Amino acid sequence: MKYSIFSLARAALNGHKNWPRTWRDAAPKKHYDVVIIGGGGHGLATAWFLASRYGIKNVAVLEKGWIGSGNAGRNTTIIRSNYMLPGNIGFYELSMKLWETMEQDLNYNTMVSQRGIVNLYHSDAQRDAYARRGNAMRINGIDAELLDQDGVRKMMPFLNFEHARFPIQGGLLQRRAGTARHDAVVWGYAHAADKLGVDIIQNCEVTGFTRDKAGKVIGVETSRGAIGAGKVGMSVAGSSSRVAAMAGLRLPIESHVLQAFVSEAIKPLIPGVVTFGAGHFYVSQSDKGGLVFGGDIDGYNSYAQRGNMPTMEDVCEGGMALMPIIGRVRLLRQWGGIMDMSMDGSPIIDRTPVEGLYLNAGWCYGGFKATPGAGLTFAHLLARDEPHEEAARYRLDRFRTGWTIDEKGMGAQPNLH
Ligand SMILES: Cc1cc2nc3c(=O)[nH]c(=O)nc-3n(C[C@H](O)[C@H](O)[C@H](O)COP(=O)(O)OP(=O)(O)OC[C@H]3O[C@@H](n4cnc5c(N)ncnc54)[C@H](O)[C@@H]3O)c2cc1C
Repeated sequence: MKYSIFSLARAALNGHKNWPRTWRDAAPKKHYDVVIIGGGGHGLATAWFLASRYGIKNVAVLEKGWIGSGNAGRNTTIIRSNYMLPGNIGFYELSMKLWETMEQDLNYNTMVSQRGIVNLYHSDAQRDAYARRGNAMRINGIDAELLDQDGVRKMMPFLNFEHARFPIQGGLLQRRAGTARHDAVVWGYAHAADKLGVDIIQNCEVTGFTRDKAGKVIGVETSRGAIGAGKVGMSVAGSSSRVAAMAGLRLPIESHVLQAFVSEAIKPLIPGVVTFGAGHFYVSQSDKGGLVFGGDIDGYNSYAQRGNMPTMEDVCEGGMALMPIIGRVRLLRQWGGIMDMSMDGSPIIDRTPVEGLYLNAGWCYGGFKATPGAGLTFAHLLARDEPHEEAARYRLDRFRTGWTIDEKGMGAQPNLH
């Protein structure tokens, strides 16, 4: 359906009568070829890729609340592919390329904005580490530029260069990185998946797994009744360990809160995303003018979607150290989401020891940028029963075998975001 300014105004005035739904409000069927638990970006993207690339359309996405009520709608919207380690570098670039075609692929405006990211460095050692990261990116065909202090100053003259405790020496720039509107990503995948016949079932909490005599998962128990499934995929982010426990699995994942903050709107100031290298703070500016920022996870395990004051103070201190210009800007909103922190900071896209049950988890605070990549590679695993080549290292057993992917900035050392 095409909208004009007149049809939009008419719809607003008549209470949105005959306004078409972006996706159907589907009632659960008795059985699906694939059931995905979790209606965040990952679950919906997986369903869309299953239907559009792998021809598997008898799919349901089960969401306990409303779609996008988890981390998909709570993140700070940064997308980038400035990774370095084998296992990550190809995966995140695959995801970046999918961001670049997403709006055409879904026929939906997800407001992908490649406004660039600069990771600041404040010491010679940090510069060397970023030079190495940039070189690894370029060798793999990914854009990266190492900026000196003048280069950063030209882009962001308002940063604290003069009186800083940790003077800015320069930064690593990825121009193709940026932001996307997180809710629109969820709605775009829901809309496109629904058109291909995927059932999106909200207010449907999975409360258990149905198993056959051999222990294979053959369906799920839900708050809306039992649903049979050929295969079940979990994409429940911060709830991964709780949902897996229903199948008797103990995951190498801890849940922590991460907070995000939005200030009142100010005039255009920050050209892209910038991360502080000497403290926990990163920031971008939304199209509405608000500064969107965040920092470190709260330092204790929790399933609560709200954070504590000391972390808030720490984040704001980081912001003031980097750009004292924001000192009198008022904070408008703050919220928290539950991070599925894996033990090496890298994700898991793998089969589980329970037949019929597949896992997509461990995204820590970096899973928004992974949304299209995780959707494609998880769909591949579910459809083919073998890993996609770009996600082959995201194995569940790597903590036992020692093949961890311990990339700085992803797990316990969060200064990249
Ligand atoms: C404050 C904050 C800032 C972040 N910033 C960034 C960033 O800038 N860039 C970036 O790349 N990443 C960022 N992230 C991380 C990113 O948001 C997540 O890694 C990613 O969204 C996780 O995938 P998802 O979207 O599918 O998760 P979610 O949206 O959390 O989806 C999981 C869904 O599963 C549902 N669910 C749980 N249990 C059940 C059940 N039993 N039955 C049915 N449904 C269930 C939940 O309700 C939820 O909707 C941030 C996260 C937070 C909280």
